[in-house]
Amino acid sequence: MDAFIPFAAIAASALFILSLMWMSHPSTARRGVRAGEIGMAIAIVGALVQHEVVDYHLIIIAMIAGCAVGIPMALLMPMTAIPQRTAMSHAFGALAVGLIGAAEFYKHAQPQFAGGFVLWALMFEMLLGFLTCTASVVAFGKLQEILPTRAIVFPGQRIVNGLVALATVAVAATLALDPTQTYLFPVFVGLALLFGVLLVIPIGGADMPTVIALLNSYAGLAASAMGFALGNKLLIVAGALDGASGFILALVMCKAMNRSFANVMFGGFGAVAASSAGGKDDRVVRSASAEEAALQMENASSVVVIPGYGMAVSQAQHKVSELYQALTKKGVDVKFAIHPVAGRMPGHMNVLLAEANVPYEQLVELDDINPDMPQTDIALIIGANDTINPSARDDPGSAIAGMPIIEADRARSVFIIKRSMNAGFAGIDNPIYYNANTQMLFGDAKDMVGAIAKELSGGGSGH
Ligand code: NDP
Repeated sequence: MDAFIPFAAIAASALFILSLMWMSHPSTARRGVRAGEIGMAIAIVGALVQHEVVDYHLIIIAMIAGCAVGIPMALLMPMTAIPQRTAMSHAFGALAVGLIGAAEFYKHAQPQFAGGFVLWALMFEMLLGFLTCTASVVAFGKLQEILPTRAIVFPGQRIVNGLVALATVAVAATLALDPTQTYLFPVFVGLALLFGVLLVIPIGGADMPTVIALLNSYAGLAASAMGFALGNKLLIVAGALDGASGFILALVMCKAMNRSFANVMFGGFGAVAASSAGGKDDRVVRSASAEEAALQMENASSVVVIPGYGMAVSQAQHKVSELYQALTKKGVDVKFAIHPVAGRMPGHMNVLLAEANVPYEQLVELDDINPDMPQTDIALIIGANDTINPSARDDPGSAIAGMPIIEADRARSVFIIKRSMNAGFAGIDNPIYYNANTQMLFGDAKDMVGAIAKELSGGGSGH
């Protein structure tokens, strides 16, 4: 057994690194997930056979409780709820880190540990752990739309946040220097929890993907600091990998959203109410039928399909694949324009389209497809909204000003499949619906795409 423990640590670390490497490409992503799972299983066995473990009863109860929550969560939560699920996982993980830190703190609440490395590491990991816990719960609430998705801002917010941050760090430092002042410990925990809430409430819905990535990073860093405090090398490595990859993902997302990192954290994105419509709404909306859309599409030479969250909700990807085949058979050039934050998780559209066997080469990223949009005959938007909203480009006062969009409005004709005139995740109006070259195809994405595909394959009502 003694030989197994270091072996387990090395094997698990190697698998975690391979997992991250494989997950960076869709074709190897499944292998990456498997490697991560096997690595985690080895790490758990390695932890259970440690000499320090003298009684398995409580561990078994905790494992059963964890499985009782985790397995239904994994099986029952739909793919469109992955960001919320991830936020909850971060909340639980961060809470565990915070609670283990609290137990270790009380073990070290003696004068001989004052100012020592272990206490500093513990305070750091608890600070990140507790704040990540409440921040993740707020992120969950926003993503699940239990809390308002828009940014919640109030006068003097930055000053209040700054003061709470300073007070938290000051109490943490006091406890690291003199851990016998245990009466301060609940104050520290309360402040860290409060800081987590304050950190996320001013961040609007459209920035949630970046926030989730960042909270992932915090949870990883907390685990790594915990590894230092407990002298556990595997935790240091796994936490550092999680912390670094989460941080890099947050930066990549910021770049994709054309947002500065500081702006996401402190900007109150989404705080500006949508006002571009202004006054009495006399704008005209044109709607069309599946037959009319099919007729125009078969006469087009190029169609760019722009999928979004609505395609995921209605699980329309297989119908979209049928539509792709039907159009391709008729000699129409079909491409898929993929926005980096379309849907509700990074890579959401890629995963769904891959599941429906849409050839990966037909998927084109935002920067590469936009120059082709003015020469595109038809842009077919399937349940996308914020990611094609021209006010991000044209209206500096818009809540999503500066966010890159797929410039669907520049195509010769635009068809938009959605059920109503409702807003998307950012909760703002979309002027593209009122353009003269836009036709709305009102209905559920799966039904509407299915109806168009049927028309194209000659199975429609033949109008
Ligand atoms: P949006 O959320 O902006 O809009 C989706 C649209 O789909 C809605 O307007 C809705 O309109 C329509 N819709 C919903 N259900 C159906 C259905 N069954 N059939 C047809 N249409 C439907 O989607 P986008 O993909 O354009 O943008 C993603 C947004 O989510 C961005 O704001 C992004 O920041 C945010 N986000 C992204 C994450 C990520 O990592 N990708 C994570 C968290 C948030 P209607 O109700 O009228 O049908």
